[in-house]
Amino acid sequence: KIGRRSLSRSISQSSTDSYSSAASYTDSSDDETSPRDKQQKNSKGNGDFCIKNIKQADFGRREIEIAEQEMPALMALRKRAQGEKPLAGAKVVGCTHITAQTAVLMETLSALGAQCRWAACNIYSTQNEVAAISPFLASSLLCFSVFAWKGESEDDFWWCIDRCVNVEGWQPNMILDDGGDLTHWIYKKYPNMFKKIKGIVEESVTGVHRLYQLSKAGKLCVPAMNVNDSVTKQKFDNLYCCRESILDGLKRTTDVMFGGKQVVVCGYGEVGKGCCAALKAMGSIVYVTEIDPICALQACMDGFRLVKLNEVIRQVDIVITCTGNKNVVVRENLDRMKNGCIVCNMGHSNTEIDVASLRTPELTWERVRSQVDHVIWPDGKRIVLLAEGRLLNLSCSTVPTFVLSITATTQALALIELYNAPEGRYKQDVYLLPKKMDEYVASLHLPTFDAHLTELSDEQAKYLGLNKNGPFKPNYYRYDNTSNTAVLP
Ligand code: NAD
Repeated sequence: KIGRRSLSRSISQSSTDSYSSAASYTDSSDDETSPRDKQQKNSKGNGDFCIKNIKQADFGRREIEIAEQEMPALMALRKRAQGEKPLAGAKVVGCTHITAQTAVLMETLSALGAQCRWAACNIYSTQNEVAAISPFLASSLLCFSVFAWKGESEDDFWWCIDRCVNVEGWQPNMILDDGGDLTHWIYKKYPNMFKKIKGIVEESVTGVHRLYQLSKAGKLCVPAMNVNDSVTKQKFDNLYCCRESILDGLKRTTDVMFGGKQVVVCGYGEVGKGCCAALKAMGSIVYVTEIDPICALQACMDGFRLVKLNEVIRQVDIVITCTGNKNVVVRENLDRMKNGCIVCNMGHSNTEIDVASLRTPELTWERVRSQVDHVIWPDGKRIVLLAEGRLLNLSCSTVPTFVLSITATTQALALIELYNAPEGRYKQDVYLLPKKMDEYVASLHLPTFDAHLTELSDEQAKYLGLNKNGPFKPNYYRYDNTSNTAVLP
């Protein structure tokens, strides 16, 4: 999430809690005319979309085809839907990042029978060439309309959302949101629409938080699915995604060689574990700092030296924060770092490194590359600060499409579940996707690896007290190497 992730800060700030990729195709011939002022129509004369440049659609299609290769589960859902259409009659209004991966999701929803109208949840993250496919799919039945472009103003942002919902002869009955802005808009402007809406599927931490607040206040008027906290999504977004993207982010910004480098990783949760594993595999000498004795013990068992930051700060070549906490690296630590030390953050907020403390008159800032600053001390020592302390991978690299495949499949299944749920199964509350569906998401990704799952025998199923078809684990099971029995719900 470069493009999508780098520049990005959505109006709701939600861009930081959902993850996707988008190295964007840029057309230098793009004019500066706002898409709102352009009259663009498809060959059927339909102009029910608003995108940057209809001529970029071929590039968009190619991007989408590349993404499809790494999104096997959505492709499997499409195949399965050749007979029955689980979303027949569904009218989905979406507000997510508009990238090739999202387009694979949208086209899958269409293949499952849904009509879609989509806006971007982030003013910078739209891949214009991908949005440009909309005119070719939008029929007179309004089945696939996108209102989004890269570099929207705040006013454009809300205008696009409004164009998605405020349309004659069409009313959404499902919401797919990332950050809660779309949901918020409908609550504010068109509360009556909720009479027809069967459910909300929300991807981000921010949006989920808003939904829980609504629910607590008794104001949530439809069931909502919290996709963010699905086990599969969490594992892939936090552990595996960071395991891959930490190296990418560091390499793109600094061209650093990892072998033999001394690295300290602050925090040994999911993100920290991913970073440490990747760096260790590259031959780095990795130190870990932790406050939690369980995670600390895990780090020790995994072969990392557990230290206090002060003990290693003078000698390390790279400092990475992944705690979700604030002021983990403060000015005192920064003062003691050696010349050339690379400092970056993989946690959600930009408060882990006290960057503000570096904005003092005696220190000189030099921008050496996009997202790379040298901060220079009076004696000539310099540190290399990446992305001004914001999430490194979201700011400086892309994220594996396979990670997004998990999230997108979870979103699709959550929509199917809410849309088809019998009356009364879900109340006006926030739910997690049933464990069985999490398992289904995982199983749809296994064929990619030619992985062969063992089936329980009747005798074994009885012995374990399980249904042969799952769910295979209790809800409190954490799927990590902490003692699961010790982690109560
Ligand atoms: P987590 O809770 O599993 O791990 C954080 C760890 O940091 C915990 O073990 C905690 O004990 C430790 N910690 C807290 N304060 C500390 C301190 N002062 N010093 C040392 N350790 C400390 O969380 P996580 O899933 O690993 O996520 C970490 C952060 O990364 C969050 O902010 C999360 O939103 C973000 N995140 C980033 C990405 C990404 O792509 N970069 C993906 C997912 C999550």
